[in-house]
Amino acid sequence: MNYPEIRELMCDIGRRVWQQGWAASNDGNFTAKLDEGLFLTTPTGISKGFMTPDMLILVDSSCRVLEKSKLRPSTELPMHIRCYKERPDIGAVVHAHPPVATAFAVAHIPLDSYTMPEAIIALGSVPIAPYGCPSTDEVPESIAPFLHEHDAILLENHGAITVGKDLLTAYYRMETLEYYAKLTMNTRLLGQAFELPEHRLEELMDLRNQFNYSGKHPGIKKYR
Ligand SMILES: [Zn+2]
Repeated sequence: MNYPEIRELMCDIGRRVWQQGWAASNDGNFTAKLDEGLFLTTPTGISKGFMTPDMLILVDSSCRVLEKSKLRPSTELPMHIRCYKERPDIGAVVHAHPPVATAFAVAHIPLDSYTMPEAIIALGSVPIAPYGCPSTDEVPESIAPFLHEHDAILLENHGAITVGKDLLTAYYRMETLEYYAKLTMNTRLLGQAFELPEHRLEELMDLRNQFNYSGKHPGIKKYR
């Protein structure tokens, strides 16, 4: 995929994220890894639903802006750069505040009930990284230990972050995460949910291996 295509895709994902209510006002930010040492980032202060390709900003791994722009990169850029440092296998990072997943992050309830095959295969349990003040080093520090086993992480009292081999993969993980959170919320309203037994979970892990899924997975152990 060339740079113009990645810019178009990032704007398209921005519209999807905004339309679904996962990034109110100017919230949320995404990045994609380009050639060695180069990254494309969303700008700060702009709704992710109204971005145009020229608004996206080329930066390096020190968060330096490499092309003339009236806009500034997201203040959460160091969190993204930390993800690429911890995970050389990834090519994109998506950060948003999907309301149901974020409610779990605010309630300090990790998404670790193994109930639905798609979420088990794609994500496994989703931990909550301890709270860090947005735009500070606290956020990258808090997520770093979780990145080695997880592609989706809740940010305590804040939102969620997903990573993937490319933008679409990272975005789809955010979709799966929010769906998994909605389903978990609904079963809590119904008052009961039945988790799959261990032998069924192992069966799903075998399927994940057969399908050759990219990324990391915590296995069937739960995050506590
Ligand atoms: Zn945020």
